[in-house]
Amino acid sequence: MTNVTEKHDFVDSDCLEAFDHFYAYLNDEIKDKETFAKIQHHLQHCKSCFSRAEMERILNDRTKGAGNEEAPETLQKPIA
Ligand SMILES: [Zn+2]
Repeated sequence: MTNVTEKHDFVDSDCLEAFDHFYAYLNDEIKDKETFAKIQHHLQHCKSCFSRAEMERILNDRTKGAGNEEAPETLQKPIA
């Protein structure tokens, strides 16, 4: 039996707007309360955007973490 609650609604204009604000949202850079609430609300109700935002958040965290870490010694040595 197929449950069709998880529909693909990428063409939804709300989704497009959410995409536009993902990075700002994840970085707490949305100054406009209304926009922030709108994105947050959308993510709570749209599974595809929520999982995408989660992925972006994880990638974001990794990128930040990588910036603070020393490169492994093997990567610092020139390949001769
Ligand atoms: Zn969406």
